[in-house]
Amino acid sequence: MKSILIVSMVELKMKKIRLILSSFLNLILPKFCVNCQREGFYFCDDCLLFLSESNLICPVCQKSSYFGNRHKSCPKLNRLDGLVSFWDYDGSIKEAIHKIKYQGLFDVLEEVLEQTIYVFEKDPFRFSIFLSFLTDEKTLITFIPTNPVNYKERGFDQARLLADHLARTLKKSTSVLLKKNRNTKSQTGLNKEERFINVKDSFSFIPQGSGVIEKVLLVDDVWTSGATMQEGCRVLKNNGIKEVWGLTIAKA
Ligand SMILES: [Zn+2]
Ligand SMILES: [Zn+2]
Repeated sequence: MKSILIVSMVELKMKKIRLILSSFLNLILPKFCVNCQREGFYFCDDCLLFLSESNLICPVCQKSSYFGNRHKSCPKLNRLDGLVSFWDYDGSIKEAIHKIKYQGLFDVLEEVLEQTIYVFEKDPFRFSIFLSFLTDEKTLITFIPTNPVNYKERGFDQARLLADHLARTLKKSTSVLLKKNRNTKSQTGLNKEERFINVKDSFSFIPQGSGVIEKVLLVDDVWTSGATMQEGCRVLKNNGIKEVWGLTIAKA
């Protein structure tokens, strides 16, 4: 048992080393546009024009919500209080997320986030509730953990990369509040109801010692049915957290 543990720890270390090497190589190797393969940046000037900003929605009924907050008339119990997704999960953004997730090209994320800042700057009023939540010193930043088997294969957690980046920008640190209890099958191909069943009870809460946690930002890469985020939120709220907003790069 002990030797199996040592072998898997060595494997994980090797994966991390390979990832560090590959992200170093990414810095010195030429970059190609994720969409048209033109050399220079991961998003070339032409393809940038086609990035499609996502409308903000209420995380419960998934209908339009100007500030991304949950409608007052929508069910409240253990649900997300708000949601911000920046882009439609399509074209270059979809390609970029695939490059991060399956090829470990972390610097793609930097370029995605650079573009995301422009979205905020263009319409700060629309993001005002979210930004005051995000910058509140009581708000902790956490993420949806990936399946243990995926983590073992890839050696990183894509949602954590995003959470870490955001936390660094805000001079905070990422809090690890959720643990994945079991491997869940891919949500792709499942209908909405099956997606909720698939992730039910798949997370547990990691207590953070003393002190009450009031507000949490829950980060993930893509919002599709919202099943995973709502399940993560349910676990957080069952453990006393009062307000939870979700943040994803893209919305399908
Ligand atoms: Zn291009
Ligand atoms: Zn609603």
